[in-house]
Parts: sequence; C-alpha cells; structure tokens
Amino acid sequence: MLNGLRVMFLASEADPLVKIGGLGDVAGSLPKALCRLPVEPGGKTIDLRLVIPFHGAIRRQAYSLGHAASFQVPYQGSVTTADVFSLDLDGLPVYLISGPLIPPEAPVYTSDAGVDGQKYTFFSLAALELARALGWAPHILHANDWHTALAIYALSLTREDDPFFKNTSTVLGLHNLPYLGIGAGPALEAFGLPSAIGSQLPKWAQQLPLPLGLLSADQIIAVSPTYAREILTPEFGSGLHKFLRTRADAITGILNGLDNQQWDPRQDASLAVQFDQETLNDRQGNKQALQNELGLEKDADQPLFSIVARMDYQKGLDLVRDALHAIADHPWQAVILGTGDPILEAAFRKLEADFPNQVRSAIRYDAPLSHRIYGGADSLLIPSRYEPCGLTQMIAMRYGCVPVARATGGLRDTIQDYSRSAQSTGFLFDDPTSDALATALVRVLQVFKDKGEWQRLQRIGMAQDFSWTHSARQYLAAYQSLVSTRSMDSKN
Ligand code: ADP
Repeated sequence: MLNGLRVMFLASEADPLVKIGGLGDVAGSLPKALCRLPVEPGGKTIDLRLVIPFHGAIRRQAYSLGHAASFQVPYQGSVTTADVFSLDLDGLPVYLISGPLIPPEAPVYTSDAGVDGQKYTFFSLAALELARALGWAPHILHANDWHTALAIYALSLTREDDPFFKNTSTVLGLHNLPYLGIGAGPALEAFGLPSAIGSQLPKWAQQLPLPLGLLSADQIIAVSPTYAREILTPEFGSGLHKFLRTRADAITGILNGLDNQQWDPRQDASLAVQFDQETLNDRQGNKQALQNELGLEKDADQPLFSIVARMDYQKGLDLVRDALHAIADHPWQAVILGTGDPILEAAFRKLEADFPNQVRSAIRYDAPLSHRIYGGADSLLIPSRYEPCGLTQMIAMRYGCVPVARATGGLRDTIQDYSRSAQSTGFLFDDPTSDALATALVRVLQVFKDKGEWQRLQRIGMAQDFSWTHSARQYLAAYQSLVSTRSMDSKN
C-alpha cells in the first residue's frame, strides 16, 4: 500500500539551501530520512518532494536548476505569476517557487508582518497549484508552521469537491506555536481566502494562518511529545489552549532527529581535533583551541559554559546575566554565540564588559564557530521559556558538551537530569528564573570538579541515538494511518 506514497513537504527554509533556525534543520533532514527508510522489495517506498520559496539566499548559490512549471495564482481580483524551478539535492527532488511576491533581495523573514504575510500566502497557494501543474497529486500534504499552514486551510475549503486533491490528507508540523502569522489578514483577503467565522477558533484567530492550519489539518504533529501536551495548557497555548483541546485527538508529538552526518565529532572538519567516546581525552585539544581563539586563559580546570542560540525572549537568555553574576565567586568561563533581539545582544556585550577575562560574546551567526563551541566547550546553557523540541541540546550531547536546560518541551524529552546512579545526560531546572539557573550551574560546577564523573556524563550523552531513523518511522506510520483512514472514508 505504501509503494509510491506521494508526500509534498512544504517549508519556509531547508538546510543546506537556506537555514535560519531549527525549522531549516528539520526540513533539510526529515525528508532525507523519510526517503532513506528501508525500501520494500520491488518498489519505491516514498516519493517525497520538498517545496520551498526561491529565496535570494538560494539564488546566490550555484545550483543547477531546471524549469518545472509556470502558472498563475488568483490575486487581488486579477492574477500573479509563479515560476517554479527544480533541483536535485542528493536524490531528493526540490521545487523552488518564485514570483513577484518572493522578491530576490528579501530575507527569508522580514520584520514586516504584512510583507511576509503576502509572501507566504502566495507560496502556500502556489504549492497547491504546483501539484496540479505537475499532475502529481500527493497522498500527504505536510506543511510546517504558520508560513505554509494556509496550504492546508485552502485545501480543506475545496478538497471534498476537487477530484485532484480528494485523496490528499494533511499534516501540520508544529515547530513554534506563538508565531501565528499575525499581520497576514490583508494577504488572505487579497488571495480570496475567507475567515473561519463560526468555527471553533476564538474570534481573534479566525484570520490567522497558523490557527487556520490547526483548525483544518487532519493531523497536527508537534515536534516533541512534551510540547504536544504543553500546548493544551494556558502557559504554552498562546491563547489557543481551549481550542487546541477540541483538537486533542488529532495532536501527537514526534521528537525531531539530528542529521548524524552533519553533526559528527568523529569527522567534523571544523574541529581542531576529531574525537569519539573512546578518544574523549583528545577533546581537550578543542577546548584549548577555542580558549585560544577567544583570547581566554587556556585552563582545563575552569568550566567553559556556552550558548548557541537565536537571541529571542523564547530562549530565556535574559536569565543568564544574573545567573552568572550569582556564581561570580567560582571559576568559570563563558562564550555566547547568537544574534537577534538588540536588547539581548547589548546585554551580552555588557556581560563581556562585566567579566572581561572570562566572557566572550560573539554577536553573529557563525556556523563553523558553533561547531567549535559544541566540540570544545564543557557545557551548553539552554534556559528556554519554552522549547518545542530544540536541537542544540542534542548536538551538544553528541559532541560531549553537557547541556544545562530548563525542563520544558523537547529539552525534557531528551535530557536526563543528573544523579550519580542514573543514566544522566545533563542538568535540568524547573522555573524560568535566574536563581533556578544559578542553582543548576552550581550543581554543574560540583560535578565538573570530579573529572571521572564528568566524563561518564559526557559519554552517556554521546551514546544517545538522536538520529532521524526512529522518528522518521513514526512520521511514516502517521502518514500511513492517514492514507488508510482517507481511503476508508472515501469508500463509505
Ligand atoms: P530554534 O529553531 O528555536 O532556533 P533549535 O535549537 O531548534 O532552535 O535550532 C537552532 C539551530 O541553529 C542549531 O542548529 C544551532 O546550532 C543553530 N544556531 C543558532 N544560532 C546560531 C548562531 N548564532 N550561529 C550559528 N548557528 C546557530
């Protein structure tokens, strides 16, 4: 039955074509993992095609492109044109949608919600038209976050009367609930998408892309089991928790995986020294190289804390400064890599000024430096207020960098809190406060003094299997179940 299962996977970003954050990691690696799943004898298991906007950042790279289709999308009582190009990414077919509403000079996300609303509403509707232009009706339309949620909503409005899409089931991947697509209202009107008046959605959400996707998707898959539960609560539900409870039967959580080839300390060319569990002592060379690069004292006995994160309120980074001041009497060093909110950026510059011999703030996006931090720092701080899944803790564990994280979302699902006997992989704390973070850091400092115990913790973390294999199978099972439910429904 699964032979030739057709999946259209929509995302706003996908590594290595273009990546801003974790969504890019997932859209780059989950499709590949799904395509790699064991092929049944005599047939192809899955025909997955990735569709993303033809962002300027992709145009500036030298990919060999084919022309896939050109067509028009109704817009403002007239039409706007979409030109679609195709490329092959190590065997994965990728379609890049371009058009006047996806300007080549624009970044992936702007600070103008109206502009992004137009861009992603166009992209979502053009993706549906692309399937039609290719004569390729997907069994599964898998959209992700607010940017592509309207593809699901638009499909739901016509699906039952549309012979082309009548066998298409929809999955909405939920990577970040609070980003609802606010400001897209005019775009919905321009593209003729009605509000969901009279639906279960609260009135304020009836013209917002993500809520409309949550309303109409056949299945909602949050990126960790804990986040799937958390979004049903007032603390994490972004005002939609009551509505989401009405959809609880359609909500599941599947943990994101990691691209184990991209993140592999045994063959990471960014590192001064490659290492694995057996050669963990060699890792010290990376710490030294990092301390040297940053102009910090080359001292193995001072724990080197680190942060690699988008500087956003979500990440709880405002808690770090007070927490580090609270442990100022202890020996430690810290490196912060991140960019985003100017207030947080300024706070970390100030932190460096507070501790000129101990702290380095690299206020930028720097992928090679992130590898050197994971491979050389002792511990990664992730004090997130909420964290749907989080990848940095998984990368850190794979690289022997012990995570210290708030017990929320995917952090709770992937990190085992420290205790001497258990199979611990890191340190968790409950409250999103600098006191709770400081208390956790004191625990870290204690364990770090015991080198044998610290290495035990590192090795258990490095031995965790965060590869996509298990999660990709869960996605395939979810797809399979939707396809069989739909075919049963259409027979009845
Ligand atoms: P989110 O998607 O919320 O940003 P994740 O933990 O899921 O957080 O993924 C973040 C990804 O982006 C990781 O691969 C991390 O290494 C990378 N990253 C974040 N900030 C930077 C930065 N300033 N420089 C390099 N890589 C970064």
